[in-house]
Amino acid sequence: MTLEISPPVAWHVTHWCDDSYSQGAYSALLPGGDIALRRLLSTPVDGRLFLAGEAFNHDHSAMTHSAWDSGLRAAAAVTDTSARKVIVIGAGFAGLAAASTLQALGLDVQVLEARDRIGGRVHTAALGGHAVDVGAAWLQQYERNPLARRAEQLNLQRRTTDFSQPLAAAWDGPLPDINLAYEQLRQSIDRSQPLALSIERYLGNLTTANRRAAAFAVDANLILEAGLPLTQLSAQVLDEEGVGHGDQFLPQGYRQLLDDAAYGLNIHLNHPVQQISWDGQGVQINGVAADACICTVPVPVLKQLCFTPALPAAYRQALESFTMGRLEKVVLQFERRWWPASGDGYLRWYDAPPNWGEWLDLTDALGTPLIAGLIAGDAVERHFAAKTDEQIAMEACAKLAAWACAIKRNNEL
Ligand SMILES: Cc1cc2nc3c(=O)[nH]c(=O)nc-3n(C[C@H](O)[C@H](O)[C@H](O)COP(=O)(O)OP(=O)(O)OC[C@H]3O[C@@H](n4cnc5c(N)ncnc54)[C@H](O)[C@@H]3O)c2cc1C
Repeated sequence: MTLEISPPVAWHVTHWCDDSYSQGAYSALLPGGDIALRRLLSTPVDGRLFLAGEAFNHDHSAMTHSAWDSGLRAAAAVTDTSARKVIVIGAGFAGLAAASTLQALGLDVQVLEARDRIGGRVHTAALGGHAVDVGAAWLQQYERNPLARRAEQLNLQRRTTDFSQPLAAAWDGPLPDINLAYEQLRQSIDRSQPLALSIERYLGNLTTANRRAAAFAVDANLILEAGLPLTQLSAQVLDEEGVGHGDQFLPQGYRQLLDDAAYGLNIHLNHPVQQISWDGQGVQINGVAADACICTVPVPVLKQLCFTPALPAAYRQALESFTMGRLEKVVLQFERRWWPASGDGYLRWYDAPPNWGEWLDLTDALGTPLIAGLIAGDAVERHFAAKTDEQIAMEACAKLAAWACAIKRNNEL
């Protein structure tokens, strides 16, 4: 196989971390933070304020259906009150689930959305006339995902990704057994110590070859997954369910599910909320009075909102235990596919320091040479700071080329 690498003809680079209405990709608990905090924060405040969103789902967080389920839960809590008029802040999946449920029950619901579009951290952008998800892409935990059930009902085109079978390469030689290295690490790590320290000690006791494999496993399974450096992760992540093997994405985009959920709702775009006044009688937001408010903004935005009176101290304290994972995407469009094709389009690149570690080749799904890369944690800062989108896209393309050369080299061995 010869590689005639050509530069992309178009690209889309995301900036979720700098976006004032997301300030990151998804919530994470800082070391010491307990999952019970997610439950506490989803408890209604005085029967008037209801917090919802992916962060406030104690069963599963960080995913689109976490947001959806949390919105349903908030709506159910509102129906336990006498509220008839409700303001929902945010038109992401949490806000849309809450608003559509309450409206279907006959309540008067208004959705206030800061952006000029619905969807929040779900955004199907257009690149070269093709729909591409530049926020969430996969329907995760597929078998128990209500959005997956809706996608099936709507008969939306879907594609499965097998995360356990990537077409993978490492920068410095043959690929080690990353899964085995991760399993060994999980079994051996001292969970009573801070995760970063335990991992440093663990790596220090390994042979050079095993250390290399374990370091790649840490980059792929912990840092890229959570979007955070080890110092901000608790040992609990070692026991959390990782990405699933039956996850599916929608080649025509998540937008189809958003439009379905938003159908018939009273959504006011370009309506950022800064202040929420509330008391035992009701709420007042952007000059509108209502009986209750369901607020679905991401955690960092929530911390910046001005509540009058302030949220109860336990809530404010609980919010301090949260941070946001950092994850960005680049989508590159080419005139032709010059990189090796893989079964379902899932690629992994193990580099040091880590960079664009995960790719989804959409060429077969869309019928045009398009590929999406993911970068996470500290690597975002390293690769984004003081760069234009064009520079970021060209550097990502260079990493894709390095991966392709490594695959070629491995095949020739
Ligand atoms: C790059 C990336 C990849 C991801 N990949 C996946 C994936 O493959 N699968 C998956 O399941 N999940 C994925 N996620 C996570 C998923 O997108 C989120 O967990 C989910 O969309 C969050 O929904 P939400 O309704 O809780 O919040 P949001 O979608 O953030 O919705 C909140 C809404 O509130 C609005 N808002 C914010 N501030 C204000 C304000 N002051 N006034 C009014 N409105 C405001 C926002 O504009 C937004 O529309 C990914 C996220 C990112 C960023």
